[in-house]
Amino acid sequence: LIYLDHHATTPCDRRVAAVVQRMLLEDYGNASSQHRFGQSAADAVHSAAETIAQALAAQATELVFTSGATESNSLALLGVCQHPRQKRRKIVTAVTEHPAVLDPIRRLEADGFVVERIAPYPQSDPNVGQVDEEAILNAIDDQTAVVSVMLANNEIGTIQPLRRVAEKCHQVGALLHCDATQAVGRIPVSVVDLDVDLLSASAHKFYGPKGVGLLYIRQTGRRVRIRPQIEGGGQQRGLRSGTLNVPGIVGMGEALKWAVEEMDTATLRIAGLRQRLWDRLKSGIPELVLNGPSIADANTSISPTDSVLRRLHGNLNVMFPRVEGEALMTTVPTVACSSGSACSSVDPAPSHVLMAIGCNESQARSSLRFGIGRPTTEQQTDEAADRLLDAFHRLRQMV
Ligand code: PLP
Repeated sequence: LIYLDHHATTPCDRRVAAVVQRMLLEDYGNASSQHRFGQSAADAVHSAAETIAQALAAQATELVFTSGATESNSLALLGVCQHPRQKRRKIVTAVTEHPAVLDPIRRLEADGFVVERIAPYPQSDPNVGQVDEEAILNAIDDQTAVVSVMLANNEIGTIQPLRRVAEKCHQVGALLHCDATQAVGRIPVSVVDLDVDLLSASAHKFYGPKGVGLLYIRQTGRRVRIRPQIEGGGQQRGLRSGTLNVPGIVGMGEALKWAVEEMDTATLRIAGLRQRLWDRLKSGIPELVLNGPSIADANTSISPTDSVLRRLHGNLNVMFPRVEGEALMTTVPTVACSSGSACSSVDPAPSHVLMAIGCNESQARSSLRFGIGRPTTEQQTDEAADRLLDAFHRLRQMV
């Protein structure tokens, strides 16, 4: 079995799992308890918060721990828009966002918010997948409560520049939320450089445990008012009640520490494997099409350094001409990747991201997303490419 689906999730790093296990078995106090067990758990959470804050250039007090990025996105969007003192009634977002952003926004729209969804540049544009900058800047005005734009796309890996969007938001007093779930732990993320007010992340995307994430809420300068979505014991300054997931939070801190420490070497190695996978597939299927931002190729002038600035280094999304992605996946069950039909396999619709950059339905359905990660080896990428090529040619003979 070859795992090439690191955008869906990553395996927990063994060093992280060891720390999580220690917290589960030995340091198991409730971080709100007064006794020594509680104090020890609270200290561990505090230290993880410091590590995470440092990695993101935030303050520990600006972090709220959640069950993952889905909850963080809901807390950010519903929290800002449903605050009793929120007077503004407009939301600006991108068509290519994850459902964890699109769905809470759809709910707010049903409650009366006006929503502008900005389309990305199409496949023919060098900035394919990024939101159309002029369009988004024009959409943001003094009625805008929040703008939500992701930092790295989970399907085609596009890395979104946010500087001008942040500037415009702050000129008109709108808040900027960024779903950085696919970016944190993979590329450098600084809330200061991005100048965002809210940022979501999830530990299982950077070799941490599942079911734990965070929302950064800016505390300096402009006031960010959030209405809590989960109420109860008043933990986390009342913003997110519930007993803290101590092993998860400590595991997330440990995972982010390693991800940041090893980022440079991992990036180079993974980008090399992505290139290797693409080259091998392309040499076996000359009509193969790359969906999303360019990577180095005999036909492009993109350098390897350039390509990792525009696109997540482990991401490859390709269209197999006249063969359904689902059919390929079923024919090669030993290669784990993801089909072009939306990120959640519960939704059979063709990927809204691929459609937004100009694929038609059948092209979207012929696409597969690969996510190369830290444990991936050269041998695995070669083997995966060969199995896919073999299956592709067999399927093509059948049509
Ligand atoms: N946002 C993006 C961009 C994602 O890729 C994902 C995970 O697939 C999520 C949000 C949801 O994250 P979680 O699984 O932590 O709820």
